[in-house]
Amino acid sequence: MLTPSEAEALIAGRLVCLPIESLPLAQCVGAVLRENVYAERDAPPFDRVAMDGIACASGALRAGRREFRVQGMQAAGDPPLSLAATTQCIEVMTGAMLPAGCDLVVPVERLTMGHGSARVDAGARVDPWTHVHRRGSDSREGALLVAAGARLEAPEIAIAASAGMARVRVSGQPRIAVISTGNELIEPGEPIEPYQVRRSNAYGVIAALRARAFQRVVDDHLPDDAATLGERLGFHLDTQDVLILSGGVSMGRLDLVPQALAQIGVEQVFHRIAQRPGKPMWFGTTHAGRVVFALPGNPVSTLVCLARYVLPALSAAMGSLPCVPERVPLAADVDVDTELATFLPVHVAPDDSGRAWAHPRPTNGSGDFTSLAGTHGFVELSGGPRNFARGHVTQLFRW
Ligand code: AMP
Ligand code: MG
Repeated sequence: MLTPSEAEALIAGRLVCLPIESLPLAQCVGAVLRENVYAERDAPPFDRVAMDGIACASGALRAGRREFRVQGMQAAGDPPLSLAATTQCIEVMTGAMLPAGCDLVVPVERLTMGHGSARVDAGARVDPWTHVHRRGSDSREGALLVAAGARLEAPEIAIAASAGMARVRVSGQPRIAVISTGNELIEPGEPIEPYQVRRSNAYGVIAALRARAFQRVVDDHLPDDAATLGERLGFHLDTQDVLILSGGVSMGRLDLVPQALAQIGVEQVFHRIAQRPGKPMWFGTTHAGRVVFALPGNPVSTLVCLARYVLPALSAAMGSLPCVPERVPLAADVDVDTELATFLPVHVAPDDSGRAWAHPRPTNGSGDFTSLAGTHGFVELSGGPRNFARGHVTQLFRW
């Protein structure tokens, strides 16, 4: 059987990078940038007044002048005035362009304003360019501000806007179908019999996709019936890029998903991974480049396989730069009594020194997803039998 990292490599080898689309900037929150963002102009684009006060020629102050006649006022957004004489000053507001002929801003806190004049206090700083945010001191026109592959969060969106970009080129959203299977499953809100089960997996899967800014997500539910499975899965393969199924991949007589997928031409890449939970996971692709993740139906297995394999694969297909794995120490000893790689749900909390620790929150088997409330994800522990001592550092996967 494959190890988790072998399964991950097989998935990575079958993924195609999604096409690029150009979108209005405001619609790109969470998207992966597929072009570089370069500075449209120097930043700041001009010598920028950094304090409310007056602008004047510093040489006059160093030569002993303290009192200046106020020639005019310049606010942010005004075209620049020009200082007519070094005996004069110009009242300026933060964000204004420094008036021509001035090389110093004295803040209001250091001024005594009279009728048409300003007196500079003895303690004021008079070196040239004091309280002036010099043109180009943050970045130069043409400088690379955000590289392709970055995820567009609030700072990157603001930077792209500052670079004058009304639209940006980002990875197209994959069309994803989230499909649960199982005759026993009942939608929340519908009446339920004692022998039936709530259809919760699809809600968890869709929540994780939405939290990562995937928007083109459709939802379907299929019974454990070979003909219906074949027909509906065929339809979804024609209309979607990625299928995420749950249920129907174990050894039971009604676990019909692998054979239904094979019959409609999905090529199996692997079935089963040496892991707990989630051993029956199935993965396949089509000639047209569609990918099918068929996750085991047990709710803990579904969420674990989603976070361990599906979400990182989708992120790579979007052209995201690989993120640095998050590694955390175990906050308690853990016994792994199986030869299978083990995914252990954890709550992550910092100690007094600020170091994050993974506090194990084992579930009562792969069906017990009520124990997952308040957990942040899970850690991966290699197969045993083995005791992992408190402090053992391992990789964290977030939900
Ligand atoms: P399966 O993988 O189809 O054998 O399902 C394993 C277990 O997970 C069964 O007890 C199912 O009732 C349960 N299960 C399957 N799909 C879901 C779902 N979408 N939501 C909640 N439980 C599920
Ligand atoms: Mg089932």
